[in-house]
Amino acid sequence: MKITVDPARCQGYANCVAAAPDAFDIDDVTGKAVLLRTEGDPGEIREAARSCPVAAISVEG
Ligand code: SF4
Repeated sequence: MKITVDPARCQGYANCVAAAPDAFDIDDVTGKAVLLRTEGDPGEIREAARSCPVAAISVEG
């Protein structure tokens, strides 16, 4: 599974953090999502991608 966050799209809504707190956090400086790990619970990660209102999260594999 390959996870990426497009910082140009991310608006810092933090839905991804709520869905998968082990995998995502919000950067204090930029206010955008950062990846904490590139692997994680697949169900949580896919839910995080689905919950992003601007479709900034890509999941492959
Ligand atoms: S849900 Fe989407 S827009 Fe919100 S912080 Fe996560 S990646 Fe960014």
